[in-house]
Amino acid sequence: MAFINDNYQKLPGNYLFSEIAKRVAKFQSENPNAKIIRLGIGDVTQPLPQVCVDAMKKAVDEMSNAATFRGYGPEQGYAFLREKIADYNYKRRGIDINADEIFISDGSKCDCGNIQEIFSLNSKIAIADPVYPVYLDTNVMAGRTGSLKADGHFEGVVYLPCNAENNFSPSIPNEHVDLIYLCSPNNPTGTTLSREALQNWVDYAKDNNAVILYDAAYAAYITETDVPRSIFEISGARDCAIELRSFSKTAGFTGTRCGYVVIPNELTGSNSAGDKIPLKNLWLRRQTTKFNGTAYIVQRGAEAIYSEEGQAQVHELINYYMENAKIIREGLKKVNLTAYGGVNAPYIWLQTPDKMSSWNFFDKLLTEANVVGTPGAGFGPCGEGYFRLTAFGNRENTIEAMNRIS
Ligand SMILES: *Cc1c(COP(=O)(O)O)cnc(C)c1O
Repeated sequence: MAFINDNYQKLPGNYLFSEIAKRVAKFQSENPNAKIIRLGIGDVTQPLPQVCVDAMKKAVDEMSNAATFRGYGPEQGYAFLREKIADYNYKRRGIDINADEIFISDGSKCDCGNIQEIFSLNSKIAIADPVYPVYLDTNVMAGRTGSLKADGHFEGVVYLPCNAENNFSPSIPNEHVDLIYLCSPNNPTGTTLSREALQNWVDYAKDNNAVILYDAAYAAYITETDVPRSIFEISGARDCAIELRSFSKTAGFTGTRCGYVVIPNELTGSNSAGDKIPLKNLWLRRQTTKFNGTAYIVQRGAEAIYSEEGQAQVHELINYYMENAKIIREGLKKVNLTAYGGVNAPYIWLQTPDKMSSWNFFDKLLTEANVVGTPGAGFGPCGEGYFRLTAFGNRENTIEAMNRIS
């Protein structure tokens, strides 16, 4: 008898996006002439920067010649890419991170999901609510939680509510936890954590021998100068934090696939005998056993953004989406809807009018404006009463959607 991993059955079905698709399809079949605009997607729409395309074409040519062909690459990723990341994203910002602390992957979703494997199943986890669902779901699958309760929360998890009242900045728990998932700039709220808030988290983590898993997938979207781009800007973070980053939203790599994890050399966890074990060694062991690297071609494409020209092209791409974000923010303000985010992230998180439920607001927007967004309740119980619009559409559709909403 092949018994299954029962933990999978604790997960509710992928209700959110299938329910959205179902409602949109039903509306479209009843209203075949309606021109529906989708501002619910979390995927980019603009093409790759030209520097990436050129670098990948060159790499393909190298692969076609025995003298320059590459097979399996180095386990942590090619040094040419790790060194550029360390230089551009860390050293040039005065942050102490070296190339040997960077692990290249085929995207950050896998890293966000896999990193929990190197920690004990007894670890107590703290997760923001609402948040990117990967952190919670992968811990449920691993068996680090109890069952789903009627209030939408899993037993055994410390939820960190984020709402307008606390400025979407989660409070430090008044109990001990071992692993803390933080995401800034945040998906779905589009808000960021301040230097002071992050310092409080680092201090808490150090006092509790906890580890912060810091998802900075949207770091490149930060426009305000005083907002930290990396957890390693915070003093003490090298002793308690792992950072996860991706080329997906930075350089349009959602379909090309490249991300990385940063684990400082001195970061340790305890084994059951109480010895301090470097987490970097465990992650290297995990990756060399279960992962065989990101394509050479893709790593060359990613490397290409780290040049003067590459940086200019990436900024242009991000500015395009952030101009959409501004159009959405200003459009919502005009119709007196309260909205957050959209300044340091491509997400706008609006408060539904008159405390309308997020699904009712979804239906209203779909039927009256033919615009699709994402109901906040899909990102956690504290997302109820909110609604996510994304800036990843094209300019024309974004402008048209805001005209219809007003
Ligand atoms: C898009 C996204 C990622 C990155 O995903 P990839 O697998 O690298 O495409 C990570 N975290 C959050 C919060 C995201 O929204």
